[in-house]
Amino acid sequence: MPEIRDWLTEGLPHIWLPYTQMATAATPLAVVATQGTRIRLADGRELIDGISSWWTACHGYNHPHIRAAVERQFATLPHVMFAGLVHEPALRLAQRLAALLPGDLERVFFTESGSVAVEVALKMAIQYWRNQGRPEKKRIVYFRHAYHGDTFATMALCDPEEGMHALFAGTMPDQLMAELPTDESMRRAFDLLLETHADRLAAVIIEPLVQGAGGMQMHDAQTLAFVAEACARHKVLLIADEIMTGFGRTGHMFACEEANVVPDIICLSKALTGGTLPLAATVARRHVFEAFLSNDPSAALMHGPTYMANALACAAANASLDLFESEPRLAQVAAIEAQLQAELTPCTELAGVADVRVKGAIGAVELSGRIDLDRLRRRFAELGVWVRPFGKVVYLMPPFIITAEDLATLTAAVRRVLTERARQL
Ligand SMILES: *Cc1c(COP(=O)(O)O)cnc(C)c1O
Repeated sequence: MPEIRDWLTEGLPHIWLPYTQMATAATPLAVVATQGTRIRLADGRELIDGISSWWTACHGYNHPHIRAAVERQFATLPHVMFAGLVHEPALRLAQRLAALLPGDLERVFFTESGSVAVEVALKMAIQYWRNQGRPEKKRIVYFRHAYHGDTFATMALCDPEEGMHALFAGTMPDQLMAELPTDESMRRAFDLLLETHADRLAAVIIEPLVQGAGGMQMHDAQTLAFVAEACARHKVLLIADEIMTGFGRTGHMFACEEANVVPDIICLSKALTGGTLPLAATVARRHVFEAFLSNDPSAALMHGPTYMANALACAAANASLDLFESEPRLAQVAAIEAQLQAELTPCTELAGVADVRVKGAIGAVELSGRIDLDRLRRRFAELGVWVRPFGKVVYLMPPFIITAEDLATLTAAVRRVLTERARQL
């Protein structure tokens, strides 16, 4: 296929890849098509996708219902600016998200990426206090192992050791890191932290139940409930970053539901459009929104991305929500959880494995000892699966529609690659 060699060899010298040392990087795999759980490569091979394209493709690839909705939308209204003008796909989506989300999370601000959704949540939280005459309440508490995005304000809320704090020291706002209060003494410490700093704090931000890019760290619903309760007691807003956990990934539609927590602000993105188009949403509770209502124009929320509420992306998100209604997604997640538990747990016996953790459709094997990520990644591709370990974890986050047989192929590949590694340690 000469035309593929042309686009790859001629185009690659002009591409800058994410998180990649370009001097030593292996040539990326050339993809020509996707379907269901499969990624088809230019050389004819097919990989089973174990990680849903950065955790987005919850219905698998190319779902006909989403495609039809986007095609219909493209024919009538692909995009129009969202200031002074509104359209049906965005308004329907906002209404449906408000109905799905717990409590009075009911005001939706659309953006195009998760990082920007978090930035908007930060603006909402800081301006919420400013509008009430408390401009000094502007610092944010985040947790060890957190990941909230790659932009400057969100980098400052990522784990200081695993994140990019050191690289950009001095250029980011200085925020407060806390430990997740997973036991009694940590709960007292967290409570004391909030009490000490409450007068300067706008919000606490948390990835509920599972911290994703910080290494698939998991905590229980009681810990989350305690964080929420402490925030309420000390008058600090709670921002739930459900960009990774939202839309069924942890077994509930939203992770907060498992702890009966209604955060003041919630951020959604990744699976919002079923992995088809970029879209994010920051959703505020009624009292947060009402703090912006005033005769003073400068009390309004000062944000507005050019492509906000893109109609194609909103149509895709509406179609994705249809699928959560018409297909048994949460039951599929429960079945995936049971299978991941059964088939990944044996990895605990292997040398060089520190822990195995499963929550919903997330299975993570944490490694110890020297980790050669490039080698692991290469081996997985050789075995016909798309699994991309990072940091210390090999993880699976498959599309919810995956068959038990394909999932067994993924878990077998994990066991095999880690068994090979154990022999060489
Ligand atoms: C991916 C992610 C983000 C950032 O989203 P982008 O769309 O990559 O900017 C923020 N928070 C969490 C929890 C994420 O998983």
